[in-house]
Amino acid sequence: MADNANSLTVSIVTPDGQVYENKTPMLIVRTINGELGILPNHIPVIASLAIDEVRIKQLESDQEDDEIAVNGGFVEFSNNTATIVADSAERQNDIDVARAENARKRAESRIQAAQQKHDDAELSRAQVALRRAMNRLNVARR
Ligand code: ATP
Repeated sequence: MADNANSLTVSIVTPDGQVYENKTPMLIVRTINGELGILPNHIPVIASLAIDEVRIKQLESDQEDDEIAVNGGFVEFSNNTATIVADSAERQNDIDVARAENARKRAESRIQAAQQKHDDAELSRAQVALRRAMNRLNVARR
């Protein structure tokens, strides 16, 4: 049985609802300041997340980690529960690869056009769109 000594609860929520909830012996996220591993009973923490994967170890060590593509947001850890709040998040198996591939191509075209027009605001938006698409592709293809 999982208890507080060897597991923590992880919950991932978006405006569309809860995407994930499980017990884990370790959660690994990428914050805007670098990678953060959270073990059971970690000190309380709150951190902004990069557009990157969240990796959730399984209680049974022979099982594959769960991987979720998370679109920024933040992680808050207290009372042995990690809550991730993000604009969007997709579990590995829920990622539509063709859609992400199209989004990647669109973002690359936008980046090229913005560079030619020296449109810095559009360039930043397109670069973020590219990061979202690449993150989904990386998680889906693992
Ligand atoms: P697209 O241009 O394909 O819509 P996007 O990066 O603009 O991509 P978001 O605004 O981040 O999309 O997400 C909108 C909604 O669509 C969210 O609920 C998100 O989880 C979902 N979503 C986006 N891309 C994918 C994908 N490739 N596979 C599954 N769900 C996706």
